[in-house]
Amino acid sequence: MSLSSQTQVHDPWYSLEKDDVLTGLLTTPDGLTNDEVERRRKKYGLNTIPEVRGRSAFVRLALQFHHLLIYVLLMASAITAALGHWIDSTVILAVVVVNACIGFIQEGKADRAIKEIRSMMALKATVTRNGKREAMNADQLVLGDIITLTAGDRVPADLRVLEAHRVFVDESMLTGESVPSEKLESVSPISTPLAERHCVLHSGTLLTTGQALGVVIATGANTELGLINQLLRSVDVMTTPLVEQMNHFSRWLTIIILSAACLLIAYGLFSTRYEFSELFMAVVALSVAAIPEGLPAVLTIALAVGVRAMASRNVIVRHLPSIETLGSVSVICTDKTGTLTRNEMVVSTALVGDRSFSISGQGYAPVGDISEPKNPSVTQESIDHALNELAMAALLCNDASLENRQDSWLVHGDPMEAALLTFSLKAGLDLQSQRKVHPRILEIPFNSSSRFMATLHRTPADEEVLLVKGAPETILSMCTHELISSNQQCPIRRQFWRNEVERVARQGQRVLAFASKTFGKEPSSRLDAESAPSELTFIGMVGLIDPPRPEAVLSVARCQEAGIRVKMITGDHAQTASAIGKALGLRSSDQVLTGQELELMNDEVLSQEVLGCDIFARTSPSDKLRLVQALQSHGLTVAMTGDGVNDAPALKRANVGVAMGQKGSDAAKDAADIILVDDNFSSIVAAVSEGRTVYQNIKKVIYWTLPTNAGEALIIGVALLFGLALPLTPVQILWINLATTITLGVVLAFEPADPRAMSRPPRQVGASLFSGRLIWHTAFVSALFVFAGYSVYLYGTSQGYSIGLCQTLVVNTLVILEIAHLLFVRYGYGQDNDWTWPGHNPVIWPLVAVMVFLQLLVTYAPTAQAVFSLEAVSLSDFLLILVVGFAFLVFLEVERRLRHRVFSILHA
Ligand code: ADP
Ligand code: MG
Repeated sequence: MSLSSQTQVHDPWYSLEKDDVLTGLLTTPDGLTNDEVERRRKKYGLNTIPEVRGRSAFVRLALQFHHLLIYVLLMASAITAALGHWIDSTVILAVVVVNACIGFIQEGKADRAIKEIRSMMALKATVTRNGKREAMNADQLVLGDIITLTAGDRVPADLRVLEAHRVFVDESMLTGESVPSEKLESVSPISTPLAERHCVLHSGTLLTTGQALGVVIATGANTELGLINQLLRSVDVMTTPLVEQMNHFSRWLTIIILSAACLLIAYGLFSTRYEFSELFMAVVALSVAAIPEGLPAVLTIALAVGVRAMASRNVIVRHLPSIETLGSVSVICTDKTGTLTRNEMVVSTALVGDRSFSISGQGYAPVGDISEPKNPSVTQESIDHALNELAMAALLCNDASLENRQDSWLVHGDPMEAALLTFSLKAGLDLQSQRKVHPRILEIPFNSSSRFMATLHRTPADEEVLLVKGAPETILSMCTHELISSNQQCPIRRQFWRNEVERVARQGQRVLAFASKTFGKEPSSRLDAESAPSELTFIGMVGLIDPPRPEAVLSVARCQEAGIRVKMITGDHAQTASAIGKALGLRSSDQVLTGQELELMNDEVLSQEVLGCDIFARTSPSDKLRLVQALQSHGLTVAMTGDGVNDAPALKRANVGVAMGQKGSDAAKDAADIILVDDNFSSIVAAVSEGRTVYQNIKKVIYWTLPTNAGEALIIGVALLFGLALPLTPVQILWINLATTITLGVVLAFEPADPRAMSRPPRQVGASLFSGRLIWHTAFVSALFVFAGYSVYLYGTSQGYSIGLCQTLVVNTLVILEIAHLLFVRYGYGQDNDWTWPGHNPVIWPLVAVMVFLQLLVTYAPTAQAVFSLEAVSLSDFLLILVVGFAFLVFLEVERRLRHRVFSILHA
């Protein structure tokens, strides 16, 4: 028999018994061999769904013109052409085209950034090949691969269930049914509808509970998901509330400008100072200058720069509006293990009977001694029965594996469990052989609400033994007896053990207890997943060291400086949490609330207590949701981390949901706004800092653009209103608008992180951009523009210059003012009284240089001069213009300082 191809010639897999499926796919529960995998991959390709082809480049380019602003400009261009003003018409058209090109290129870049993010979020799968389980990227899967899944995993291909333990799957993305459906091993009859095929796990769906083993029956485009060709959209379009607000604003602005333009024409005609064509051209130029047509593209650039910056700091942004929210985060609720701590665990204490052993050695290498500090005469040989039992339980009730590669020891699975293996090796046990002689029959996996895990094994004596490990409180409550050294039992001494837990936990160690129960020979259902094990015999405990990450200590301090509270939420013991909290420098590390205490509080009491406490211990995932809500009831912006399936509701509810890239489940990643590639607390803090920077940059862009546009427009507006001679021609103002938009306009999107971003308190949420400050700044700057422009013009006429030369002076003055204003926003914006260096902006000097070059070109190159009716400026006049620019800067700076002075007096 040969492997049936993916186009089916047999009955559908879901209608076949599992053994027939395995034979049909030429595979076994031990998985395929590497050669076979290679062969199948060559034949069927990678397990990826071909991407839905996006819009063609042409359509995307065409869409760049689909903005109200652009329509207005196009119309203006058409009308000016009709009036025979070819140059004006061409310049306006150039504005439109250049803008569209910038938008097009930037959108392409943003698209690519999003694609990169997608590939960073590649799905992982646990596969058995050659009898060995390993984790790999899901695109490597082939037909016949054996896959293990646990709660929270996303199904990586279409699978026929081989084993299922209480498996429920969210299939809403395929069937629209939001209630999770159960998966079973039994076959479904032929032509069962998709939603009722209980023995098939469909690619792309999420396991909400249970554990499953399955065999791949379809990959890539042949999966049900592939057939309906629905791409998992995990990242959305480039926009945030702020940018939306801005786009909305520019639409309104356009309408206002157009109305103002109509009024101006009516007024101009009425006052009959200008002839219609001249008047019309001036109003068109004014409108074009006033419309911030470049703004949407520049804001998108600022966001894209932010997404990139975050990616380089190990943060994947899944949901773009959260870039903005990140900047206003005022509380970070974080996991402990692996996020604040290194998650490189070492067993350092073992407690059995009345004896306490300490274990030496670092890392996962099984090099180190087990010794008894109180009684140094006890050596490796005299380690007694109880310690051996403890090491055996640690080895068997364990899903991790260790691999010795050259000099380093690689961990597969939970680092804590790997540390237990190392401990067992140090105690002299052999991993492989023990696991072989004690095969596992059944298991209850660990979950963070029940806080224990249990496995059932067959012993060489053909008995069955149940091993349980978990949080000491949980295990103690299941035990009736305890083991004393020489294979004897006595009634459990609960208080004694509780004191021991406190003692070890106070040193910051994570304490884990072990218990067992031996059954007779006749098989019966010994492990019922629904009810907790009981009447166990207590074996002993271990204490594990998991030191804080050094960089986390720094990041906690940074948060405190930035006015952000850090709250640790952990499933660990209160004393352990408190000791780690102290080492990290959390504010109130002595005060700990436990999950039990939280349960006794109603929402009102909780919301009062939540502010004062920074450590929450022995919590379960449902506590996280309540904590988020309690914090939000104070108007705080909450970032919450999570990794398990049950964390999803809290992640969704938090203002910024943060999932762990490495140990996080797919369900948590799905619910999160951002993902930490390295699971590191410091990355959250980096993201907050980047978020603040992006917000700041968007503000800077707006602070530069609006006043500048207003200034350009007002110069012409004032002339029309008062019936003065135009200080510069419509073509000239269009030129300034074109040249500065494409050079100076984009500079501020590339501003680096403000070194002081993290020394200020978080921004108030919902604060509008259109503050009194922005309006005042716009009014002040445009007034200075008008004043400077007319002064220079009058200076020119007083010198007896031709009108063309006077206008040239004004054009150059305006350009200098715009550059000066850019420098002011970059160096002066957001500065307090003491000035600091705002960091290196890579594009500012190149772009200013381009602008200066273009301006010199039109002023001195004969052809360009003719087009824009400009004349060469003498050196002395040029210096004069520079002085005007400098004076403008001085005015701005004096105003800024005065304003600060006044405000600090008012607020004192
Ligand atoms: P954390 O917030 O530190 O990640 P967890 O929810 O992972 O907390 O663990 C809570 C407690 O459950 C631990 O203190 C430990 O006692 C117990 N525990 C953790 N992992 C396991 C496991 N794999 N098997 C049994 N017990 C565990
Ligand atoms: Mg954990």
